Amino acid sequence: MYFKNILVPYDESEHAKSALHIALGLAGPYPEARVSVLTVIASAALPNPTLLGDGGIGTPYAIADPATYERLMDSVVKNARADAQEIVDQSLDGAECKVVADAVISNSPVEGIAEYVKSHDIDLVVMGRRGLGALRGMIGSVSFGVLRSVDVPVLTVK
Ligand code: ATP
Ligand code: MG
Repeated sequence: MYFKNILVPYDESEHAKSALHIALGLAGPYPEARVSVLTVIASAALPNPTLLGDGGIGTPYAIADPATYERLMDSVVKNARADAQEIVDQSLDGAECKVVADAVISNSPVEGIAEYVKSHDIDLVVMGRRGLGALRGMIGSVSFGVLRSVDVPVLTVK
């Protein structure tokens, strides 16, 4: 087969589920192929460590110590990975390829996806044309950003 290492960026949207379905359709019959399902947690969506120890009014999070903060980060990543694993388990449908669920923290979804493409030798990205965002339009900002920032082919699906 031509594509051996497919990335499906996953944000829990129906579009991303369609993308997984299509990726498994492409790679499913090939035991040597791999599909990685990746959720990126934008660090802006997490509590800011510079707020540690400042328990004043308006501080959204007061976290006692760095070890607690580390544990919080770990559990956020683990939960996202478990959510991705759940959708993988529901979608496998007898696929013979390897399927892995992953989650990373990054500055932005686009950056996290682009870094993953490079570091995991991805040769095709299959992603939703839209995601969880409420705005209507041709294509979401994450899809647009990924199209601009990776060198491998990107298949966008509805
Ligand atoms: P916007 O976020 O710009 O309001 P949107 O949510 O409709 O618009 P995108 O966020 O671009 O559209 O989502 C398009 C696809 O990008 C999703 O179907 C999914 O494949 C991927 N995606 C979006 N956010 C993430 C994320 N945090 N982690 C991994 N993949 C993501
Ligand atoms: Mg979005």
